[in-house]
This record gives sequence, C-alpha cells and structure tokens, in this order.
Amino acid sequence: MAHLDHDPDARPDQRSLVDLASVAPMTAQLNTAGHMEVGGVDLVELAYQHGTALYVMDEAHLRHCLQSYRSELTANWPNSVVAYASKAFICKAMCKLVAEEGGWLEINSGGELAIALAAGFDASQTVMHGNNKTERELAEAIGAGVGRIVVDCFEELERIQQIAAERGLIQKIQLRIKPGVVAETHSHIITGAEDSKFGFGINDGWAEQAVQIALQSPNLELCGLHCHIGSQIFALDCYEQAVEVLFRLIGNLRKKIGYLPSELNLGGGVGIAYLVGQQAPEIAGFVKTVTGAIARQAARLGLTQTDIRLFIEPGRSIVANAGVTLYTVGAIKELTGIRTFVAVDGGMSDNIRTCLYDARYECLIADRAGEPRDALVTVAGKHCESGDVVAIDSSIQSPEVGDTLVVLATGAYNQSMASNYNKQPRPAVVWLVDGKVREVIRREEYADLLSCDVG
Ligand SMILES: *Cc1c(COP(=O)(O)O)cnc(C)c1O
Repeated sequence: MAHLDHDPDARPDQRSLVDLASVAPMTAQLNTAGHMEVGGVDLVELAYQHGTALYVMDEAHLRHCLQSYRSELTANWPNSVVAYASKAFICKAMCKLVAEEGGWLEINSGGELAIALAAGFDASQTVMHGNNKTERELAEAIGAGVGRIVVDCFEELERIQQIAAERGLIQKIQLRIKPGVVAETHSHIITGAEDSKFGFGINDGWAEQAVQIALQSPNLELCGLHCHIGSQIFALDCYEQAVEVLFRLIGNLRKKIGYLPSELNLGGGVGIAYLVGQQAPEIAGFVKTVTGAIARQAARLGLTQTDIRLFIEPGRSIVANAGVTLYTVGAIKELTGIRTFVAVDGGMSDNIRTCLYDARYECLIADRAGEPRDALVTVAGKHCESGDVVAIDSSIQSPEVGDTLVVLATGAYNQSMASNYNKQPRPAVVWLVDGKVREVIRREEYADLLSCDVG
C-alpha cells in the first residue's frame, strides 16, 4: 500500500490519488483492490455497509491537527488556550476528543452548549460567542459555568451583569473588538471589518466605552479582548495587522483608563486547501506569525508572555481535511458540447457550501482511485433546485452508475450546516481509525423527520 504523501516512485496508476494528498485525510491511501481507504478502511466497502450519503472522518487527522496547535503553542506561547470552534463540526464524540487532546471548546449557541454538556465537557473550559445571545442562552451559559462569555454588544453587558447578580456569581468575560481589518476571503465570512455586525468598533469609541462599563459592573470580570477577522484566510499578515490594531487600542486604554487586559483572543480563521495547488498556511506558520506579532507589540508596552494569556479558536483547520463525503452515483447525463452531470444521492442538504460560497471541491471515484482523473464532470445533487451542485467542473475517473464518489475536505461546515430540505434524512457520520469504523452520529430515519411534527 502506498501512502499518499510519499512514495515518489508510485506506479502510474497511483498517481491520481497521490496528487490529492494536500487535500485528503492524512491516512488516505490506495489499497491493493485499487480502492481509496481512510484509517485502514476501504471506502467502497464502507459505502456498501453503511449506505450513502455518508460523512467520513479520519480520527488520526483530527487528533494530529489539535496536537499541532497545542505543541506549536507550547513551543512559542505556553500561556495559551486552544479552543476548538465547534460550529465547524460538533457532536458528543468531537467534544470528548477535544477534551482528550487538552483543548477548550468555543461555542456559539445554547444548542452547542447543550451538546458539550451532554458530552460531559467541562463548562469552565468553554468560550461562548454570538452576536445576539438570547436571555435564555445567557442564563443557560452562566448557569452552566461557561469559562468566558465573549460580549458582542452593550445590551449583553447589561444582561450578563443582571443575570450574574441575580445568581450571586461573577462571570468572566472578554470583549469582541472589531479591528477594522478586511481579511482576504469570501465576503460572507469576513467578520472583522468596520461594516460588520460583530463586536465593538474602535474608531467610534465603542470599545473603550465597553471596557469602562465592564470594569464598573460588579458581577463581570473583564479578562481581556477578542477579535476574529474571518474564515478561510490564507494571508497571515491579516493576523499581524489585527494584533497591531489591538495593541494600539491596549496602549490607549492603559494611558486613558489604566486598563491592561490579561487575555488576548485572536479567534480562528486559518484557511485550508480545498483544491490541489492551494497553498494554505501551515499551523506552525500561523502560530509563529501570531505569537511573533504579539511578542513584538507586547514588548513595546513592557509586557511579556506571562502577562498575556493567548486564546485561539481554530475550527475549519482542524476538521475540514479530516472529512470526506461518500455518495453513490445514480445517474449520468452527458450533454454534448455542454457538460456531463453526475447525479449523487445527496447534495445541498448535506453540503450547502457550494451554493452558499461558490465553494470548490476535489472529487474522485473510490472504486478506481488509482486511475487517472480524466473525465470533467459536474457533480449534481438530488434536490429540486438547479443550483443544487456539489462540485462544478471537477476532474474524476470516468464515472459509472453505482460507483462510490468521494468529495474531499468536507469535514468543516458540511454536517454542521446540513438541512432536511426535500425532507432528506441527514447522513450518518462515521470515524475511522486503525481499520475500525465508529458511528458517531447515526443516519436519520423518516421517523426523525416526523419527531417534531405534532400534527
Ligand atoms: C467561526 C469562528 C471561529 C472559527 O473559524 P474557522 O474559520 O472555522 O477557524 C472562531 N471564532 C469565532 C468567534 C468564530 O465565529
């Protein structure tokens, strides 16, 4: 068996899988049957046994990414927290895996908190976000003892103060700052620009005002500042800019009101390779860039690593490349001179990113993973929309009805954004490791579609 990422003397029939190594799960390889396997499990057999559509994740890959963040931070900024951004993909098994790897959990809603709690995750190691957390969500979060609430607006400062006071508690908070940095990414996932619904602006004086209110609120403990500039970011200098802006604010806050934050949270957003040839940042490069920038800026204020606890909140860069989706090819339409549609048994209900962000994916046929990908096709879903496309103009092995089609890099923002459109039951999620298959989310049945329908 040939590993994807080495074996320079690969036989010609292995080449097409080899060139996908930068996008595929780290244990992906071609087996002796000519099939693609992940975690030692043959994906063609897996599709046969578990049905399709099916979300598949490489457990070793998940752990490796979390460990990379942890070890790079330990080397560069030991006074730090890696809070996995659960909206990229969450279930109880994922929460437990994050805990096993020493991570915190970043959550964005009462629902995500409920899953974390059901998994037995230590609430004191969670960071709660959201630009309009409801009273109920805040009460649940404070009641559960979440580690930090990242406050997004003035109304929330008041609500948290009130709820914490009623319960006789002190709630630790960070303030979400809008640094005015425009990250180079899709406009829907830029979050740090001035024209953003998230956080407190700096130039309008809101950040300073929020700090003052927080400091005067007896039941709030202001731990520090947060910013999250966007998602799927390739240009690391955007983070350096954000750090610079934050430290300019910190310098001003110290001068004007004598406040120094003890925590700095830089959010997530590190981009990943969806297509062969995309040069995504390495986790090591990201950590070195941000810790270097913070060290330089902190030094100008006479601060060191022990003064500032660094939080980061990676989501996509931990789960995206660990995941693939399996479909069965059901129909093929060759439209002469136009395109070839390959229709699969899923689509926008299990992967909305193509419709939502014009996302692009690499695909292959698991049954003939070693053969050249010389057919240019559009992978279409089964939903009642022309826009229901999974991958436009993708090169795959010449497809046949009944093949197992694999879409790579679907571990982030696929299952977590899945819907029941056309009353499609959501696929199961299976984790693969050491030749073993573990179902972590079961496939929905028609009964699940009716479970809330009280008629
Ligand atoms: C979405 C989000 C993240 C994670 O972003 P990725 O691009 O998945 O790394 C981190 N922090 C906050 C506040 C977010 O909203």
